Amino acid sequence: MIIKSVNESVRKYTDTVEIIAKEFEKSLNNKALFMYKLSILKVLILPTSTNNIPTSGLCKKSGDNLSILIFVNENDPIDYIEFIIAHEFAHLLFKKMTDLLNVTGVVSDNSTELTSIIRIAKGGKEYGRELEEQLADILAIFILKKRGIAFSEKLRDDLNKSKTKREFVISFTDVFGKNIFECEKIDEFVLKSNTSVFLVSNSFWYCAVTFALPQVIAVYNKAMGRNSWKTFCDALDKSEFIKLEKQKEKFDKVA
Ligand SMILES: [Zn+2]
Repeated sequence: MIIKSVNESVRKYTDTVEIIAKEFEKSLNNKALFMYKLSILKVLILPTSTNNIPTSGLCKKSGDNLSILIFVNENDPIDYIEFIIAHEFAHLLFKKMTDLLNVTGVVSDNSTELTSIIRIAKGGKEYGRELEEQLADILAIFILKKRGIAFSEKLRDDLNKSKTKREFVISFTDVFGKNIFECEKIDEFVLKSNTSVFLVSNSFWYCAVTFALPQVIAVYNKAMGRNSWKTFCDALDKSEFIKLEKQKEKFDKVA
């Protein structure tokens, strides 16, 4: 990972980026893909253009590299800045393999995209963007909690804005096993006593970060009917909570 800061004022956040990346590494059992992504990652730290813009970030592919851009407003509390950085590293976990391998062409539903939350329907319309945003927020909270950081008012206020959606996604992922905040690692598994059988704590989180999201989608579609994963993602993208609640209630029963 190469970290650059555009000027002296934001240089100190180089350490913050390193700490967050380390915490992600520590939070993964299967770290090969993450480590590969880190090896080609460039992080650029810049100050925000004016003082009234809050800290923000961006994770994108540029040329053969992956980049994370962090625009820091130094007036923001440090936990808020850490949250933004952690959110972008969570996006990094979900970055497409084909982007990394420079393979072009899109399969109709991105079914070869094992790590991609955002998928593409026939006709080119994407779905799952909001799910990825919520997952990135949840992982950022997970990482900050691991660091034992008390949340500032600014971060709490910001998190409150997306509370309903986030809590919905957490309760949805809880159907797949242990609550993420009770797990040591994102892809936690334990050895069944006196056997060599590994038990995955939460199959949603395990699959999402270990190249196996299609497995979750298959389980969901099998239980809920063809195309229901897309319907679920679409409803989340459009914030149709009644639709989502109904779907979750049904899934709770059949899962
Ligand atoms: Zn995001």
